[in-house]
Amino acid sequence: MMGATSSRPATPSVPGMQGQRPAGVNSDPDVVADPERRKYHRSDCRYTKAEGCERMPRSAARKRSYEPCGICKP
Ligand SMILES: [Zn+2]
Repeated sequence: MMGATSSRPATPSVPGMQGQRPAGVNSDPDVVADPERRKYHRSDCRYTKAEGCERMPRSAARKRSYEPCGICKP
């Protein structure tokens, strides 16, 4: 029995994760941290292909004392 009502997966709702971001500019975008070089990158930087890279908010990367990549300037 295939459902005839909807073919889209339901949007997952995460209670408690909304309303913390100021409207307008997103000042805390996701970045990709490279633990080996101790740097973080924009998600489209080519250096994010390295092994062990981990996606996290920029504030989290700074807290872990990662430095911003000089090429993609996250
Ligand atoms: Zn980079």
